[in-house]
Amino acid sequence: MNNHTIVALATPQGLGAIGVVRLSGDDALRIAQAIFAGKNLLTAASHSAHFGRITQPSGEVIDEVVATVFVAPRSYTKQNTVEFSCHNSPYILEQIINLCLQQGAIMATAGEFTLRAFLNGGLDLSQAEAVADLIASHSAASHRLAMQQMRGGISSELDVLREKLIHFASLIELELDFGEEDVTFANRTDLQALIQEILDKINALVQSFALGNALKNGVPTAILGKPNAGKSTLLNSLLGEERAIVSPIPGTTRDTIEEVINIRGLAFRIIDTAGIRQTTNEIEAIGVKKAMEQAQKAGLIIYVYDAQKQPIAEVMQEVAALNLPNTHTIVCANKIDLAPVQPINDAVLGISAQHKTNLEDLKGLMVEKIGYNAHSNQILVTNLRHKQALEQAKAALEQALAGLSAGVSGDFLAMDIRHATQQIASITGRIDVEDLLANIFSKFCIGK
Ligand code: GDP
Repeated sequence: MNNHTIVALATPQGLGAIGVVRLSGDDALRIAQAIFAGKNLLTAASHSAHFGRITQPSGEVIDEVVATVFVAPRSYTKQNTVEFSCHNSPYILEQIINLCLQQGAIMATAGEFTLRAFLNGGLDLSQAEAVADLIASHSAASHRLAMQQMRGGISSELDVLREKLIHFASLIELELDFGEEDVTFANRTDLQALIQEILDKINALVQSFALGNALKNGVPTAILGKPNAGKSTLLNSLLGEERAIVSPIPGTTRDTIEEVINIRGLAFRIIDTAGIRQTTNEIEAIGVKKAMEQAQKAGLIIYVYDAQKQPIAEVMQEVAALNLPNTHTIVCANKIDLAPVQPINDAVLGISAQHKTNLEDLKGLMVEKIGYNAHSNQILVTNLRHKQALEQAKAALEQALAGLSAGVSGDFLAMDIRHATQQIASITGRIDVEDLLANIFSKFCIGK
């Protein structure tokens, strides 16, 4: 069934000069040739493009197109593939797809081209998932992460872990083989150190999800402060300069109104801006409650106060009262254009939201606080499925570690290690993951 020829529109419906119909499978060349008047596609070289006409059986010309031929295995799916670049009329595209269906193709389901790329060994599972992320990427950082994953960044990191685990398992299994002779080949202290080393790596990957996810979906950012501090003015000033054009990100729910600003390649999602705008009209108690709710969800807090009205010590108490020591926080003394202002110190950035004074410094701080270095090769986990698998692997390894201390027998250790190895392998799809596939590929659009 995996070889059956599938067809779909590979470009979005709607405006645009060109629409691409993609055809892939054993019969792709024959089907394409049957509807195409031009060069013989059956004998065309791989990666060659040919002008021609697509005609109805009646002889009526539907469109003038360019057919691009990819001969197996040199294609995305590793199967024969033809892409027709057509004039982007819904009528033309529908007619061409219909002709392909009449010739024996079937409609592709969501993600089926990428599923085939995976099944035929062109991509591993995490790389296939990265294709969806790449298509949805909306900032330099999210694009870079998806690209890194698609090129096998996380896969090679995980392969190293997997090999270490297999090494560990082989030491244990050697003992099991000699079980009756009661020998221990594997020094328990060495084993412990090895598991600890793997655990440290897994921990770092699990922890990287907070940053990876923030970079992929935008850093959830809350602008907080008392009424009239200048929060909405600041938001508008930032938006005025850096408002991002964003499309909905699949898999994220947007229950609050958000604005997205793109600063030096990082997307910041300003959460609950509706709430920020309302606080001036609310009694303080409600404002504070709302602010707290926002603060809990934020990865970055910009705390704004009126430098004319409040002394720093008082502001710092308010920030401490948020009780979120692990959330990055920037404190801004606003309205420094008005003299005199309360003295401020180094922990605080003086700005004028209205006059856009020191906003570049603020943006620099926002990026700095997030701590993402685009030039480092650090691997970040951006996918929840991967994080969950790593957490399972971690739990299994912790159990193995406890087992080692308690002196349990090798079979139990081997079981935990096998479980951890399977969890890690499920990320790249090196083990049987049939049930996962439907779930992952259904998130793709048809034609991808
Ligand atoms: P919010 O309640 O925290 O959102 O505060 P607003 O943004 O609505 O600002 C409250 C008042 O302060 C408005 O009249 C603003 O024009 C004014 N304001 C905000 N930022 C500045 C600033 O940098 N300098 C001056 N002079 N006024 C500002």
